[in-house]
Amino acid sequence: MDTDRPESALRGAGLKVTRGRIAVLDALDQLPHADADSVFRALQPTLPGTSIQNVHNVLGDLTSAGLLRRIEPAGSAARYERRTGDNHHHVVCSSCGAVADVDCVVGHAPCLHPSDAAGFLVDTAEVTFWGLCPSCQ
Ligand SMILES: [Zn+2]
Ligand SMILES: [Zn+2]
Repeated sequence: MDTDRPESALRGAGLKVTRGRIAVLDALDQLPHADADSVFRALQPTLPGTSIQNVHNVLGDLTSAGLLRRIEPAGSAARYERRTGDNHHHVVCSSCGAVADVDCVVGHAPCLHPSDAAGFLVDTAEVTFWGLCPSCQ
């Protein structure tokens, strides 16, 4: 099954296939790490009747179902992406807020280990690198 296709991804997660959900997944293919406002704007040509509240609901449902990953860099609205499950990290531009994916620092999740995990069994590490993107340098 091609889980990259929105319909297959929704069925695979046991969710009803709706136009709104497909449109949100399609929008996030084009705009990874988009926030709800950007997704809402991207939907205007295809789903002109949709509301920002509806977009928030769909993003929440898809995130709970594991189809989206939600990241929330400090000072930024929550952003969503379809690349889930690989514990990749993010680099964020401290000037314009642009976000890009970076792979695990070494090997695979958790690629970083604290020197003392206080008895916790660590399975993921979520790292945000900050800097200036190419256009802000
Ligand atoms: Zn920038
Ligand atoms: Zn990402």
